[in-house]
Amino acid sequence: MILVTGGAGYIGAHAALALLEAGEDVVILDNLCNSSREAIPRIEQLGGRRVEWVAGDIRNRALLDQLFVRYPIDAVMHFAGLKAVGESVRQPLRYYDTNVGGSINLCQAMAYAGVFTLVFSSSATVYGDCSCMPINESTQCGQPTNPYGQSKLMTEQMLASLGSADERWRIGVLRYFNPVGAHPSGLLGESPRAAPNNLVPYLLKVASGQLPALPVFGGDYPTPDGTGVRDYIHVVDLAEGHVNTLQYLRQHAGLRAWNLGTGLGYSVLELVAAFERVSGVSLPLDRRERRPGDVAQCWADPTRAFEELGWVAQRDLDTMMRDAWRWQQANPMGYEETARPVPSTASLAAQAQGAG
Ligand code: NAD
Ligand code: UDP
Repeated sequence: MILVTGGAGYIGAHAALALLEAGEDVVILDNLCNSSREAIPRIEQLGGRRVEWVAGDIRNRALLDQLFVRYPIDAVMHFAGLKAVGESVRQPLRYYDTNVGGSINLCQAMAYAGVFTLVFSSSATVYGDCSCMPINESTQCGQPTNPYGQSKLMTEQMLASLGSADERWRIGVLRYFNPVGAHPSGLLGESPRAAPNNLVPYLLKVASGQLPALPVFGGDYPTPDGTGVRDYIHVVDLAEGHVNTLQYLRQHAGLRAWNLGTGLGYSVLELVAAFERVSGVSLPLDRRERRPGDVAQCWADPTRAFEELGWVAQRDLDTMMRDAWRWQQANPMGYEETARPVPSTASLAAQAQGAG
């Protein structure tokens, strides 16, 4: 059974579904601080199977210990964390506490339980501001410029030390580029609780009339049309990369990092054009100054993931935009909360004692 922390969230929910489809059993741990419990029945509906799930925090060691007793977990996919760059600048301690402290707590609980296989959600932000594209896993350009990125780098460093200190660990570090899109069913997608900051969630709110215009940050970058270039990757491709990583880790000990990206860079205006093409909706644009902290361009060299994991992104930009738009139209306000009983920490403790 696979423990999926943050499995009610955007990427975690798609990964939980991909695991079900690959025949794995799943238990989700999520405190719902940026997600909805409504994701769980939808994962079950699409996967055709039940998912165990517990509402709780990765920083709660007692709860983690109970989970490892209660369920026959043999590997962990660790998505839980905070991810808003601007918020991390204003609230750094919250970010270090959850992203670094939470990951340390999880690893301690794993080692205590004798579970040593871990897939960690890292980010291309660990590469800092690079000028040489594409970025491969050995590229060293600098440091992340905000606490969110620092928290990912620090966690990677902590995991590397762990891998060196104890050969029982099998750790896959996955550096995501720009995940976008949604499940083609329209049942799973990104449903942030706060106002959107990222390009595609913002664009969807504009397309559906909930926001007046899409800000386009910067028109003077050294890119073909002057707007920022990124490697957008369909969230279903990303989720499938996690299943390949798990299969790899079952065969190989140690720690290894992989880029998960398409290897293609698209500008903001190219992405807007793709969205308009597939949706038939015209987007009002609001040209602005550069957003502080943004790099001009960033795209992956995904060769290592192809050669070692046998993984390659399949879905193109039009598919990403089409699936994102379907999700938005089917769920204009994201997931609707429905009344559904949540297993409490107390009942889990009782179950764990019963099992122990
Ligand atoms: P998300 O916010 O949708 O999902 C994260 C989930 O973790 C949420 O369901 C949230 O409720 C849960 N969570 C947060 N803190 C928790 C805690 N202390 N205990 C238990 N659950 C907690 O974000 P996402 O886009 O699905 O990102 C998943 C992971 O991937 C994160 O670690 C993120 O940093 C990383 N990542 C995301 C992107 C991106 O652009 N979406 C890019 C690179 C890396
Ligand atoms: N961007 C934009 N308008 C927005 C949000 C983002 O023009 O409302 C641009 C941003 O400057 C960058 C690209 O879109 O060039 C991707 O930004 P996003 O925040 O989605 O991801 P990032 O690469 O910053 O993690």
